[in-house]
Amino acid sequence: QYELLVQAERFFQIPKNHIAFGNGTDEIIDFLVRIFCEKGDAVLTSDYAFQAYEVSAMANQVQCLKTPVKSDWKFNLNSLIEAYEKNKEKVKIIFIANPNNPTGTFLSKDELLPFLNYFKNNEDVLIVSDEAYVEFARDKNYSSLADELPHYQNLVVLRTFSKIFGMAGLRLGSMLAPAEVIDAYSRMRKPFNVSSVAQVAGIAAMKDQEFIHRTQEVTWSGIDYFYKELAAMGVPYIPSQGNFVLIETPILGKDVFAEMLKLGVILRPVDNYGLPYYLRMSVGLESENKKDIACLKIVLDKIK
Ligand SMILES: *Cc1c(COP(=O)(O)O)cnc(C)c1O
Repeated sequence: QYELLVQAERFFQIPKNHIAFGNGTDEIIDFLVRIFCEKGDAVLTSDYAFQAYEVSAMANQVQCLKTPVKSDWKFNLNSLIEAYEKNKEKVKIIFIANPNNPTGTFLSKDELLPFLNYFKNNEDVLIVSDEAYVEFARDKNYSSLADELPHYQNLVVLRTFSKIFGMAGLRLGSMLAPAEVIDAYSRMRKPFNVSSVAQVAGIAAMKDQEFIHRTQEVTWSGIDYFYKELAAMGVPYIPSQGNFVLIETPILGKDVFAEMLKLGVILRPVDNYGLPYYLRMSVGLESENKKDIACLKIVLDKIK
């Protein structure tokens, strides 16, 4: 993985000994749980947070504690601190997905710094900022926590090649973290966890700034198009910093899903997140976005 590391050092502007790779970020999440939690411990996150945290916790007989979101669907950092205080002995990792999947909400650095400072110098808990959608976030108040890594000994930043680079099937994720965390992970991971194909693709991807910009432009204009059309149709949605929008459905999401599927469009049901009346709609190419909206109109008109 040496050449991949060299390129990542340039790409992330972070020294090599603070970077590691996984067979997708999912593998890194799983390893973090296995390294920092024992059976009976807990991880802490928010309701509607990316599901891999809970799945990894459960698979490792670790509890997953969750706090309610605020009225704007954002993670409630004060509630997370309160939940931590109540479960101090158990909680070994706090997962913050920023932006979050499937809600698309984000937290600003101004909101997150007091939270990080609260846990500063706390060696018993790891704060994981999962930034899978970092490149899609365009709110001016959003920024990555990668710059903060030198200041916090318990901060971990996760990135993935699955989203902006569209490499989900190749499986490549990365972790930016204190050297001790990288060392612990490197001892646990399998030596050949990242395939040579994924490594070559990852190197090429990181060299292609132009691709990132083009993907951002296509995504942002797609999101704006969705907002405009959804508003015109009276479909409520949560403003998103990802490459998807979570929409509210007038009947069960899975029934809208089934009707859309008949028309050749797949929207993602999120029942498993406890959101039976929502669907996640991903941005595609302009023609695909138009088809999504046209089909959604047909399906929702039929329900009325
Ligand atoms: C997609 C995603 C990941 C990880 O994806 P991998 O394909 O395993 O790299 C991690 N976190 C969030 C929030 C995601 O949406």
